[in-house]
Amino acid sequence: MKSPDQTDLTPDNIVAFLGNIFIRHGAISYLGEQVTTSEHMLQGALLAEEANAPDALIAGVLLHDIGHYIHEFSHAAFVQGIDDYHDKVGAALLAPFFPTMVTACIGCHVAAKRYLCATESDYFDRLSPASVHTLRLQGGPMSESETAKFANNPEFESLLQIRIWDETAKIPGKKTRSFADYAPLLEGLIDAKLRRGIAMSTPT
Ligand code: FE
Repeated sequence: MKSPDQTDLTPDNIVAFLGNIFIRHGAISYLGEQVTTSEHMLQGALLAEEANAPDALIAGVLLHDIGHYIHEFSHAAFVQGIDDYHDKVGAALLAPFFPTMVTACIGCHVAAKRYLCATESDYFDRLSPASVHTLRLQGGPMSESETAKFANNPEFESLLQIRIWDETAKIPGKKTRSFADYAPLLEGLIDAKLRRGIAMSTPT
């Protein structure tokens, strides 16, 4: 089956589109880490599953770096000193299909790193060299006013948890499940989002 283009995504083909990114781009792209981006995101999903996290958080960490492969910059823009805003790009692309919790996890995973580096004295030391490099491009640790604002997010704890899995999910050779194993979970979240949309648009 031909992979859908970014411009003609629908609830019926979005999971196939994401799977294609995992196979064709994420599986051959390291972005400065010791694992491919697909391995990294699958390890994150496994950590979330092992923590008995809700489906939305599993999906959030599974898809958190997908934005690297759908923006207009090269996949390795960060090497050239460019912030690709992959957090915002990924969240925006998936917002029509997934519940807000999923896209909040994706859209805030860079902000959560900036928050944790500002508020936990040893957090910076846990970052990989690539993550230290991108932290600089992304604005560095948050200012005091930024941390206060971020801590007000109703999903604050979940957003920090996503980031902690993100940092941990970089172990070369670690066995994970495949993207296809998560397709039913993703389809379930899409169904939940669409059902809510229909319920909200039904006249009473
Ligand atoms: Fe990541």
